[in-house]
Order: sequence, then structure tokens, then C-alpha cells
Amino acid sequence: MPSLRTDLASPNHDARPDGAPIDMLVLHYTGMETAAAALARLTDPAAKVSAHYLIDEDGAVRALVAENRRAWHAGVSAWRGETDVNARSIGIELVNPGHEFGYRDFPARQIDALADLCRGILARHPIPARNVVGHSDVAPRRKADPGERFPWAALARLGIGLAPQPAAVPHWGLAWTEPALARYGYDIADPHAALAALQRHFRPKRIDGLPDRESAELLAGLLAAVEETV
Ligand SMILES: [Zn+2]
Repeated sequence: MPSLRTDLASPNHDARPDGAPIDMLVLHYTGMETAAAALARLTDPAAKVSAHYLIDEDGAVRALVAENRRAWHAGVSAWRGETDVNARSIGIELVNPGHEFGYRDFPARQIDALADLCRGILARHPIPARNVVGHSDVAPRRKADPGERFPWAALARLGIGLAPQPAAVPHWGLAWTEPALARYGYDIADPHAALAALQRHFRPKRIDGLPDRESAELLAGLLAAVEETV
């Protein structure tokens, strides 16, 4: 059982706004060459970034910010019209060099530790499945983490997030897809970036940001799963 370390708390946090519910969970990769470099940055007051938790590739979990405080992980972002994602979310960083420094699979021990941590978070806070998102989902023009190697479908089987069943769509062009992306929660300022984020999360074998039937049917399945009219 990996240990939970709380001795390396980050100074980078502030108060959540009064009345802000904790109803989002945002997953990241660190995108740095080493775990030590990521930890140093997440605890450096000058960097002004943090997350509630950092999970090393061996499954060791570090609590950096208390859950009732606002950690600074999402940056400029939006989900379902909320632009202060940090105010409402728990942020978890997974050690991985990321696309810039050698993106690689997340080890099973790391994902097992993440699943345990997420189960606890979901028990403590009213976070709906659709609000378990990646950084790329809330910042599709800027971010690609935790990326297409992240095992979203496996986590969904454990009750963490959604894995859609495809549902029929009237047509699958951008005219249908773009408003459907917005209904599900994506910022569609750049609809191709938003579609690429959907694909990275739910259809990782092809991420081109271009509309296609499979992407549209998965999106329809997501909307059906959250009980909205398709
Ligand atoms: Zn991130």
C-alpha cells in the first residue's frame, strides 16, 4: 500500500470562494522531465502553481494542498460555463514526462493509487461523473494532459468518470457536433480543439479534431448518459 505523504505541502493555494461547491475532479500529467522537478515546481511559491495531490509513477501519493482550499492547477479554463475551475475542483497531478519530454504509459501502480484516491474524493464530495475531466477537457486550446495514454475507460469501469455507449445521431457534421459539445460542457470557442479534446478523452485512437460519425455517436452517448435530449 503506497504511503500518503503530507510533509511536502505546497504554499500555492487560497480560499475557495464562499459557497463554491467542490463538484469537479481535474486530472493532469506533470509534463516535466522528472518527478523531483515536478514536485519542486508545485511547491515553489514563485511558480504559483499547485495541485491537491501528486502521484508518482510508483504509486506514492503526496497531499500538497488541503481539499477545502483552492489549488492552482487549471489556469484559464472552462467547463459547463464555469470559468473558475480551480474554485470548484480537486486537482490531481500524475507524474509523466508528457508529450514534450517523452510521453509514456501510466504504470498500473500509479493508476491503482489514483483510483483509490479518486474513490475517496468522490465519496467526500458531490462530483457527478461528467465532471471527472482532464485538463485538456477544460482547456482544449492550451492543454493535452493527461493525454491519450490515460486509461479513462478503465477508470470508468471503476465508477470514476463516464465511458459512453455510442448513440444514434441525425447527422454527424460540425453543425450537430459543435452545439452538442457545448451542451456536454466544452468551451467551443475553437470547436476543432474542443472536438479533439473529446476524442483524446473518449476516442483516443484518432485525435484530429475533425467531425466524424464515431465521435458524434460517442458524444450523443455522453449526452444520453447525463439524461439530456439528443
Ligand atoms: Zn495540467
